[in-house]
Amino acid sequence: MSRFLSPLAAKLEPYTPGEQPQDKRYVKLNTNESPFPPAPGVISAISANQVEDLRLYSDPTTKQACEQIAKYYGLQPNQVLLGNGSDEILSFCFQAFCSASGVRFADITYGFYKVWAALYNIPATKIPLDEDFKIRVSDYENCGQTVIIANPNAPTGLALSLAEVEQVVASNANNVVIIDEAYVDFGAQSAVELLRKYDNLVVVQTFSKSRSLAGGRLGFALASAALIDDLNRIKFSFNPYNVNRLSILAAAAAMEDVDYFKKCTGEIQANRAYTTKALQALGFSVTDSKTNFIFAKSGKISGETYYKALKEKGVLVRHFKDARIADYVRITIGSQEQMDFLLQCTKEILEEQLCEA
Ligand SMILES: *Cc1c(COP(=O)(O)O)cnc(C)c1O
Repeated sequence: MSRFLSPLAAKLEPYTPGEQPQDKRYVKLNTNESPFPPAPGVISAISANQVEDLRLYSDPTTKQACEQIAKYYGLQPNQVLLGNGSDEILSFCFQAFCSASGVRFADITYGFYKVWAALYNIPATKIPLDEDFKIRVSDYENCGQTVIIANPNAPTGLALSLAEVEQVVASNANNVVIIDEAYVDFGAQSAVELLRKYDNLVVVQTFSKSRSLAGGRLGFALASAALIDDLNRIKFSFNPYNVNRLSILAAAAAMEDVDYFKKCTGEIQANRAYTTKALQALGFSVTDSKTNFIFAKSGKISGETYYKALKEKGVLVRHFKDARIADYVRITIGSQEQMDFLLQCTKEILEEQLCEA
């Protein structure tokens, strides 16, 4: 830290991303990326000409992509804002909609929420999940704060029903409710249809997980035209060209190919069921995940031991140190082949550990 850093920045505890080793040595199941390539249309959309056009700025309205997203959801293009990953969109939401009354979110949820609250000096109220890691809807009803809920939640994988989300949105008519649907395409109910009834709802989604574009850095907000207008005030005060030319093309093409999207998300759900069953047969408890990861605890070995032993064998998963979840690891669902390798390593680890004990 230099002596020039502002006191606020000096106090920050930045977000720690999952490991991104730059060699290909690992079966990488630690950051919820897709094992599948982007849709074929994404690859053909990016030609040598498009690369030449990088000399020109990108379209600050990202029109081409917003139109495709709007079409997919039956909304108007002015109800969509595209961002440089949903992380950027969420950070705009924190800046736009969290005032003095602050923001409310779960104690165990996406680790970035508390970082943005600190960065923008927003008071944060953390609400403990119940003993089964569920969000208690009553904790968020009529609460007088901006609400942000990851649905399904990470890293637990558990989802609220649409009726439960509606209870939160309806009871907080004078505050914005942000639903972070990074994982919704893997089997949960989206709140998008509530946009027809409520003017205080922002739904945030990403291309990083279900559309195989984590490295394209693409996310979006869906909301009333007025809320999108508010978010655009932040965007145009920060970085008008927030999405690059190639990523705008990628977003439009990925959104267009509905069949490929359904095939990929379907396969992840099948692999999730398969892996869950196999881990349960090995004595693991596994939460009822509606995402592209599972949250599992062995009961025989600690989360940290399991994480380290897997890494030793070439499989990366995510372990969190928070006391409430230290027994667990979060495992991204990959291809069938990757899951079989994970399961084989897990069997070996259990045998080795139990021999040592
Ligand atoms: C992955 C993730 C995001 C951010 O994704 P981007 O890559 O920035 O689009 C946001 N929220 C949750 C809960 C996530 O898991």
